[in-house]
Amino acid sequence: MNVRDEHVLRELNLYPLWVRRGMPVQEEPVPAPLAIEVPEAIPEAKVEAAVAKAPPVAEIPDITSLPEVASLDWAALKEKVRACDACQLRATCTQTVFGVGDEQADWLFVGEGPGADEDAQGEPFVGQAGKLLDNMLFAIGLKRGDNVYIANIVKCRPPNNRNPEHDEIAACMPYLQQQIALIKPRLIVALGKVAATSLLGRDATLGSLRETVHDYHGTPLIITYHPAYLLRSPAEKAKAWRDLKSAVEIMR
Ligand code: SF4
Repeated sequence: MNVRDEHVLRELNLYPLWVRRGMPVQEEPVPAPLAIEVPEAIPEAKVEAAVAKAPPVAEIPDITSLPEVASLDWAALKEKVRACDACQLRATCTQTVFGVGDEQADWLFVGEGPGADEDAQGEPFVGQAGKLLDNMLFAIGLKRGDNVYIANIVKCRPPNNRNPEHDEIAACMPYLQQQIALIKPRLIVALGKVAATSLLGRDATLGSLRETVHDYHGTPLIITYHPAYLLRSPAEKAKAWRDLKSAVEIMR
């Protein structure tokens, strides 16, 4: 094992790997193939029952109905977000946090919204959660800014790090939609439940959404844990590691 692998596995709480002397070293397990979400004809009654059971999610406007956003290039989109006060989050945040990285990246990572560090620095995923995300990227041979773009569902920090409300998500999503349209990533990785359900437009548990390749308007979307959650629940890092390895498989 090289130094880099050891560093990454330590960060993900998967090191040291103890092997009893004389015992054969086990091959690293290959991740199970991911389920691919294929739309199928579902009886109407079943759909209605499912909809009735599912908690509501934000109604995201169709970006094609928002020419004032859908026609923007990078510079105009950044300016639009900088000046935005379309929801109440702008009143309490320090600044908008647009996103960062390679604007032609194959990989797009989407989180929930800025926290205190991001609000102060104007960049997504800084502080401890950002450090963990950087190490997760490093673990799969990626680096922030190099073929990777990082953005959030909402661009302004929710007070006290609460989850963004549905109306706030709905107000802000067109900006992310346009970022996706400009980047044209080959894969989107949603970090955490808010990012996942906002992109999918339906509510579900994170556990039920993992280990499936979803479709976001023609772009594969996979779902894993938010780094801030992994900091609080380090036992889940092994699952996140499996998700990342599956993402690499998809990109191959
Ligand atoms: Fe505008 Fe998004 Fe900030 Fe709300 S969160 S004010 S929609 S940039």
